[in-house]
Amino acid sequence: MLEKYFAAKERLYPQSVKGKFRSMKWMLNAVFLSIYLFSPFIRFDRGINAPDQAILIDLPGSKAYFFMIEIWPQEVYYLAGILVIAAVMLFFVTSLFGRIWCGYACFQTVWTDIFIALERLFQGDRNQRIILDRKTNFEKFWRKALTHLSWIMISLLTGYGFVCYFNDAILLTKNLFHDQISFNVLGWILGIAGMTYIMAGFAREHVCTFMCPYSRFQSAMFDDNTLIISYDAKRGEPRGKWDGDIIKTSGHCIDCKQCVVVCPTGIDIRNGLQMECIACGLCVDACDNVMEKIGLPKGLVRYDTMAHLLDPKPEKKFKILKTRTFYYATIMTTVCFVMLRSLILKPTSEISIIPDRNPMFVVMSDGGIRNGYTIKIANKTHEQKTFFLTISSPREAILKSPSALEVNAAEIGDFKIFVILPPEFIGKNMEGRGLVEFEIDDQKERKKIEAVFISK
Ligand code: SF4
Ligand code: SF4
Repeated sequence: MLEKYFAAKERLYPQSVKGKFRSMKWMLNAVFLSIYLFSPFIRFDRGINAPDQAILIDLPGSKAYFFMIEIWPQEVYYLAGILVIAAVMLFFVTSLFGRIWCGYACFQTVWTDIFIALERLFQGDRNQRIILDRKTNFEKFWRKALTHLSWIMISLLTGYGFVCYFNDAILLTKNLFHDQISFNVLGWILGIAGMTYIMAGFAREHVCTFMCPYSRFQSAMFDDNTLIISYDAKRGEPRGKWDGDIIKTSGHCIDCKQCVVVCPTGIDIRNGLQMECIACGLCVDACDNVMEKIGLPKGLVRYDTMAHLLDPKPEKKFKILKTRTFYYATIMTTVCFVMLRSLILKPTSEISIIPDRNPMFVVMSDGGIRNGYTIKIANKTHEQKTFFLTISSPREAILKSPSALEVNAAEIGDFKIFVILPPEFIGKNMEGRGLVEFEIDDQKERKKIEAVFISK
């Protein structure tokens, strides 16, 4: 009984297939891999005091760069915005085209596709691989060895591509050739490489079926007008056999199982849409090839909507305008607009004034009260800047601070300042606490900031 639930899943040997979806997948794989590996090498001039790598996550400097956009740690809300946009975009695409993200763009799919292609290169297509796995000879050894070697190379390249986003990619590459890679970087390369090797070489479809949460809830985004991989049972059933001519009483499916053997997740789409289906379209190519060979119209397995399958009228074919896509598009546009607006209006400096907690105040010899503050100035430009600090209110306040606060390019400056209020002012105007107003001028912009003043 338990074996039914815990029996090891049979190893899959996906067969190669030719067709328009397969070609599209190859093309997209090449595009995504190129973007992944070469993006860190793109340069972008931000001035002399800033890194010139277009896409960089600078962990020691606590900043992230994406062309002209520069994200500081205080602006982590941009990351939340990017995640919201990515999630809603995924929902939007899924509600229209089903799981095409999984089938064409997901890292797991792209890398698994490449690993299977290498396996095929060194061990042959499906039947040759099945036969090879039953052997125990030298041929099996060297074919397997070459396959794993090629997987390791791709995995290391993947790990290297990953660390390039966190380091100066050009410098890192030069250092690599001079044997000057740090242990930290090497550790990350090996870690990511190991994960790639396991996920794309061994875990494969198990990731999509058992590990990825998206496959579990994606059906919530589907409706009758979502494009899904569909087997046209009305046309295909009852299944027959093909022996040079179709048996008259049978449907168009000749039960050749080509759609099953090419499937990277090992399912039979003729049993209906299943959670394992990643909408890669390879079964469509396989079945179209069969239909072409036996002289029947293509499209027995195809991308179609449930509404059109149940009622095949032309107006039911595929609708882009529907209520849920309208909602998703509205959310996406709003978040994009808000983020764009805040990026355009982003200030060039950020200032905060933090009152001292210990001591909260000091009584001076003349009865006046002194409060200490730490002023933090983030200079978000790539030039050194001078900030002039004054107190605009109350007029009786005396400021003890350097007259000009110098902050280096793209750095945060910390300054200690003191404010003293005379005893006569305290007696008349303060009941234990009040406010002081600072004015900070960087010769381009003038900002006013209030801080609490404690007097008892
Ligand atoms: S059923 Fe077809 S579309 Fe779905 S995963 Fe298998 S081959 Fe890809
Ligand atoms: S490839 Fe087409 S004809 Fe062959 S089993 Fe699948 S659906 Fe039937």
